[in-house]
Amino acid sequence: MKRAIYPGSFDPVTVGHIDIITRSSCIFDEVIIGVLNNSQKAPLFTAEERVRMLTEVTRELPNVRAEAFSGLLVDFAKKEEATVIIRGLRAVTDFEYELQMSQTNRQICPEVDTLFLTANVEYSYVSSSTAKEIASFGGDVSAFVPPLVAQEMKKRFSI
Ligand code: ADP
Repeated sequence: MKRAIYPGSFDPVTVGHIDIITRSSCIFDEVIIGVLNNSQKAPLFTAEERVRMLTEVTRELPNVRAEAFSGLLVDFAKKEEATVIIRGLRAVTDFEYELQMSQTNRQICPEVDTLFLTANVEYSYVSSSTAKEIASFGGDVSAFVPPLVAQEMKKRFSI
């Protein structure tokens, strides 16, 4: 049984994330989406809301589930008995940070390795922060996020 963790903020989940999740679910027996509950950041959606949206948009993938976590990623991986961390790479700008994180995680927990999947060219420009910026000005985010998330963003920004 090969179990992987796909960690991130997912504030909110985008079509780029869904592409990585779908491709990972074909490689691993089980994929756990780890939603980081970071008390130092002020997210648009709470960790519970992000988990709920991820659960909804991945409902057709039976070997995928979403869980919130806080603290060290490698501790969450060990708790879930996962041996692989999945990360997505969009451009070289992602690479430096990701390389450092993967080497740090391997240093503190050698039994957990990181696997990088390169972004689909169709979605390589997509990010949660760009989607939030567009939505905050009332723009159309339908190319960035699934319809359910677009609705939730619209509601959030109209409050
Ligand atoms: P973080 O705050 O940890 O970077 P994100 O929610 O922004 O979390 O992203 C989670 C992971 O998904 C990261 O590995 C990121 O590089 C990857 N990712 C984000 N957007 C895309 C995309 N459009 N295509 C592929 N991977 C992506």
